[in-house]
Amino acid sequence: MVGNSHNDNAYASNPPEHLLAATSIVPFLPGSRGLTDALVACHDCGRLHRWRPLGRGERARCTRCSGELYRWHDARRPATMVAVTLGAMLVYLIAQCFPIVSLDMAGLTTSATLLGAIRVLWDERMQVIAAMVFFFAIAFPALELGALLYVSFGLWRGRRVRGFNMLLRTVQGARHWAMTEVFMIGVLVTTIKMTSLARVTPHPGLFAFGALTVLAAMALRFEPRALWAMGDRLPGARPAPVPVPATPGLPSGFLTCHACGLVNRALAQRPRPHQRCARCATRLHARIPHSIERTWALLAAAALLYVPANILPIMYTASIGGTEGDTIMSGVLLFWRGDSPGLAVIIFVASIAVPVLKLAALGVLAATAQLRSRRAPVGRTRLYRLVEFIGRWSMLDIFVVALTVALVRFQALATITPGPGALAFGCVVILTMVASAQFDPRLIWDPVDSHGEQRDE
Ligand SMILES: [Zn+2]
Ligand SMILES: [Zn+2]
Repeated sequence: MVGNSHNDNAYASNPPEHLLAATSIVPFLPGSRGLTDALVACHDCGRLHRWRPLGRGERARCTRCSGELYRWHDARRPATMVAVTLGAMLVYLIAQCFPIVSLDMAGLTTSATLLGAIRVLWDERMQVIAAMVFFFAIAFPALELGALLYVSFGLWRGRRVRGFNMLLRTVQGARHWAMTEVFMIGVLVTTIKMTSLARVTPHPGLFAFGALTVLAAMALRFEPRALWAMGDRLPGARPAPVPVPATPGLPSGFLTCHACGLVNRALAQRPRPHQRCARCATRLHARIPHSIERTWALLAAAALLYVPANILPIMYTASIGGTEGDTIMSGVLLFWRGDSPGLAVIIFVASIAVPVLKLAALGVLAATAQLRSRRAPVGRTRLYRLVEFIGRWSMLDIFVVALTVALVRFQALATITPGPGALAFGCVVILTMVASAQFDPRLIWDPVDSHGEQRDE
């Protein structure tokens, strides 16, 4: 928590008007030391709320956009965190070392580990896709789990480990790009797809990935922001004093940290120097700089690449009958006409519907924010959350292509190689994910809430 400041009483006795609205759900805590001690900013709309302790299983929600502010945490949490993360690390190692499935076809057998699949992609001159699979299914999950394990081990022993802030920022960043659950669905889709072609035998890697998906989902509940708050309560944690705002009492005097969520007091001097968060030293901005411009640029690039992603083949199948290219749509139609319409629906939703929906939704969000529209801010905030949630699922097809290419290697009988469409498609997914991360949802609320935090920088 932020240290006591001599000006706090002035805030507590005369609180800003728009903070009062929040008190109905998150009332002011009488025993709290000061206003910034007890302030929580909504990630999605920027509204400030007063912190209060929660009962078992409770969640505090934003009074304006109903986004989750924070949730109840068990006091015995660090021990659970260490156990879950350690378990996840162990199954992660098993999942990476053992083959996932093997294929039997006319006396020939192939099997694939995840690393083996990446090596095949690399040898097929698809280095970019190999790198994508490596980072999303191997590197980022390892980074997330490793950093989380180290931090939670420290918290369990009652101390903030060296590099506490950097490690928590690593957890936050790696988590955004770690796609264990998407990869797991990719494995299942590939397995079902292969059953029509050859005999499929599951291997320990498959079960380990299943267990890893469950444990990684449990680890998601250990949020970096809650861990930062936990670290604040440890003895010896002494954040730098928070400067007094230029206009006392007005919310424009506060800057919320993008990383740890701490509500900082804005420096009084103008022009404002590059102020950093008092807790984690991340550079503070009222809004993500050039948010709308960057969102547009990334969206334009994604929309351009969406065309080759759908026209060019994502896979080539070479068999005795010759070589055949498959685009995303022809693959969907093949499943639809064949014996697995369920797979056709999954691939259609993940690879065709979700990217189009994302492009359209981000376009609407950027355009309405740019025009400073005041219409349906709650609806647009929900749309933003949906885009953030579904974005990663488009990677499904890339994982399916990677595994299929690694498994179907029966020399003369049948060999599948990746096509240029897969490369373009992977880039579309990454660009739209970066675009939605660059879009600042608080811009939706700025025109509505004219006395909200002022935009600058
Ligand atoms: Zn909100
Ligand atoms: Zn911070």
